[in-house]
Amino acid sequence: MIAEEIHRITEQLPSGVRLVAVSKYHPASAIREAYAAGQRLFGESHAQELQGKHVELSDLAGLEWHFIGHLQTNKVKYIAPYVNLIHAADSPRLLEEINKQALKAGRVVRCLLQLHVAEEETKFGFTTDEAQAYLDSGAWQQLEGVELAGVMAMATNTDDTTRIRADFHRARQFFEQAQMPTFEELSMGMSDDWHIAIDEGATLIRIGTQIFGHRDYGQP
Ligand SMILES: *Cc1c(COP(=O)(O)O)cnc(C)c1O
Repeated sequence: MIAEEIHRITEQLPSGVRLVAVSKYHPASAIREAYAAGQRLFGESHAQELQGKHVELSDLAGLEWHFIGHLQTNKVKYIAPYVNLIHAADSPRLLEEINKQALKAGRVVRCLLQLHVAEEETKFGFTTDEAQAYLDSGAWQQLEGVELAGVMAMATNTDDTTRIRADFHRARQFFEQAQMPTFEELSMGMSDDWHIAIDEGATLIRIGTQIFGHRDYGQP
């Protein structure tokens, strides 16, 4: 099942688009199954859960851990030593903490700026204006332990594909207009909207349910 879904998805990916298999709330055994099918990028959204899986799965060569959810500043220290990409850098303060912990670990941690482009109210993410102001401020240039590798966005939770496409389009416009030499990744698209995200230029899609089935929130 897991292997079939991974093959079904990866067969459809244009070159330059990579799949992040979102394994949050699913057991390490499910990740092993996906790994055996060739999957290497895995997304988690809770620092403690990621930490446990990182230890349990340390034998899997070439596995990349992507942190995709909201990251609390007091949890950064647990994942900074090994995380490959933090998708949801959603405030200057979080970026400063990632920088601090990355330097402590002797690393540069790649991060994506989370853009808030959806209709829903949320306290997470930069509006496009805030993100532009942050880039213009040059504050990020002081962060030697952080590489700003691009942008992440989530579309409005709706069946209206015109709306979803417009949200992704705004993220892409920001990504392109920013003219940041280190920007490489545009992370957008989940189980229900990844085809649209690819149309709109995503380089990383984050898919959980379609691969692993529904999550049991009682069993982290
Ligand atoms: C859980 C999650 C996903 C995966 O969502 P599915 O609908 O299960 O594919 C993608 N991105 C983020 C930020 C998530 O938290």
